[in-house]
Amino acid sequence: MFQFLFYNTLKKEYNWFNPIRLGKVSLYTCGPTVYNYAHIGNLRTYMFEDVLKRGLEFFGYQVCHVLNITDVGHLESNHDFGDDKLVLAAKKEKRKVFEVATYYENKFFEDLRSLNILLPNIKSKATDHINLMIELISALIRAGYAYENSGNVYFRVSTFKRYFDLIGNQFDIDKAFNRIDIDTLKKDNRDFVLWFSNSKYPNQLMKWKSPWGIGFPGWHIECSAMALFYLGRKLDIHCGGIDHIMVHHTNEIAQSESILQHQWANIWMHGDFLTHENNKMAKSMNNFFTLKDLEKEGFKSEHFRFLCISVHYRHRLNFSFQALLGAKSSYEKLLSIAKSLNSNNDKKIDLVKNSFSSNMIKMYLKQLQNAILFDLDTPKMINVLWEVLKSSLCRYEKKRILKLCDKILGLNLFNEQFLTLSQKEKIEKRQNARIEKKWELADELRKELQKERVFLRDTVQGTQWYIN
Ligand code: AMP
Ligand code: ZN
Repeated sequence: MFQFLFYNTLKKEYNWFNPIRLGKVSLYTCGPTVYNYAHIGNLRTYMFEDVLKRGLEFFGYQVCHVLNITDVGHLESNHDFGDDKLVLAAKKEKRKVFEVATYYENKFFEDLRSLNILLPNIKSKATDHINLMIELISALIRAGYAYENSGNVYFRVSTFKRYFDLIGNQFDIDKAFNRIDIDTLKKDNRDFVLWFSNSKYPNQLMKWKSPWGIGFPGWHIECSAMALFYLGRKLDIHCGGIDHIMVHHTNEIAQSESILQHQWANIWMHGDFLTHENNKMAKSMNNFFTLKDLEKEGFKSEHFRFLCISVHYRHRLNFSFQALLGAKSSYEKLLSIAKSLNSNNDKKIDLVKNSFSSNMIKMYLKQLQNAILFDLDTPKMINVLWEVLKSSLCRYEKKRILKLCDKILGLNLFNEQFLTLSQKEKIEKRQNARIEKKWELADELRKELQKERVFLRDTVQGTQWYIN
């Protein structure tokens, strides 16, 4: 019996993973706020969640994965102050809010495809679910967990006894409530916003009718509303980066569990930060790189993916181009080994098959399996893989093991996606259209290919394609 052991932030210990429904996993991962390009720190978190999903699927679970797209309500701070990030971006870029949201959402999915991250089963955009949020807020008010004051609705933190369970330690709790901006409409400074009709920005660009006035939802309510709607009253796993523990996930738990009256998510998993020069990579710090920035320096997405999986998801990854160079050389070495294993005639290899030591294979498979089952230890997997490749196993078995592992690591070592001839022709035709500056035709061809689930990405090294 294969069983995962995950570090559960809620319990501060490793917990065996027991799905709520046999063979099925409900997984909610907090998605991007689409006001700018995703930086590689964000992408590190999505990659850890991808390895989790691939690992679960590898061991036969059917995963229902919901990812939200935040296109309203995320203010400049993770707390309740500052203007909406989308509104600020729209003003800066002199575009409509929905144009900004659509543009960065598309770019976000391009990055996911480029990194070979499996797409969610359900992608849910906050602005498509405002009514759900209004219903949930109304229910919280009726049950006494929330109150309205002058058009704003706040969650009353004192009503939820387990409010600090996820945060856990006093130092972080004190930090969480050391807020700069005091909202005089709050009855308690710890309370947080569920709905704003009375924001300090009177010309709010995004607003909807609600029982409390025309306004917009708080950021945290969107995840509770959409996760409850799509995944039901009990959730197997909820994920995000560690910056979400203190405010966003703590508030999600308060909202959801007040309504449900029982523990909501069984396991909370959080990926540690990607840092640069030992500072958290963040747009607000202006110390960030995008995937495109790495490409401009001659790196491929696979190099970055390799870098990420070489570090355990609960360890900090201090990004530098030097480290990326190391990942590039390891990845290219692995790729060339995979190619050489692949180039062999399988029939011939089959004959050699009998000569392998089955005990050695069993030992390696066990080590690899234990590594992934024990809290997604991808660095350990990679170490074992190098040993496998150096071992006396025959090529056939090395290839088999590498292929199995790649289902989880997602490095696409055997490039098993194929284009049809007509798709190849379309890509070529589009290249020519671009050279001749026939942009409309190029766009049309891109759209046609997208309908066939072939996605293109124009990089400095040429056009790459992905099937998803
Ligand atoms: P946001 O778009 O800011 O809501 O962030 C999207 C995801 O990226 C969330 O899960 C964050 O926790 C995560 N994240 C943000 N910054 C970093 C970072 N420097 N390293 C790793 N993950 C991050
Ligand atoms: Zn969320």
